[in-house]
Amino acid sequence: MSTLFGGAEASSPAPRYTHVKIHPAVDGGVKPAAAGFNGGTLTCHCRTNPVKVKITSQTAHNHVCGCTKCWKPSGATFSQVAVVGRDQLSVIANEDKLQIVDPSATIQRHACKECGVHMYGRIENKDHPFYGLDFVHTELSDQSGWAAPEFAAFVSSIIESGTPPEKMDEIRGRLRELGLEPYDALSPALMDAIATHIAKSTGALPK
Ligand SMILES: [Zn+2]
Ligand SMILES: [Zn+2]
Repeated sequence: MSTLFGGAEASSPAPRYTHVKIHPAVDGGVKPAAAGFNGGTLTCHCRTNPVKVKITSQTAHNHVCGCTKCWKPSGATFSQVAVVGRDQLSVIANEDKLQIVDPSATIQRHACKECGVHMYGRIENKDHPFYGLDFVHTELSDQSGWAAPEFAAFVSSIIESGTPPEKMDEIRGRLRELGLEPYDALSPALMDAIATHIAKSTGALPK
């Protein structure tokens, strides 16, 4: 960091963990959303007849995720995943190539049979706290301006995918440098939303 302009940068120390890779969309720094951005097209990795999914709004709750279920680009430690209202998402090309990865899972991940990319994840259980939201990977779009990732979820789970536990300090260090606060579940706001939904359905809180 330059000191040419005086001490203004003294409060933000030089990053120490830039050698730690998280996900290609954030490794060079988190890009901010564009004002007024309202969607784009996701394309799978097939060179011919790719599956295309059109999204007609900005996404919400974008984050990097360390769980073992989310689709990740090859070599990435984390996935990047956001939500969008299911009414804002439609498959516009080669839908016949999609299949559900695990029909018994809460999130039905619709993946391309040929390239394996997950195009969207949908919750069909109407009682689920996140019913009505689809999970998408906006890096599959050529457009820029999508909502920026805000936090890191299920960070400890990357050990289940083979990350040595002794690397966790530098991985959490890098996430904090990027402004992606690491959590071992979802963020407090989303965990609170889930608990509130459950409390309303059990009667512990009024509806
Ligand atoms: Zn494909
Ligand atoms: Zn995940």
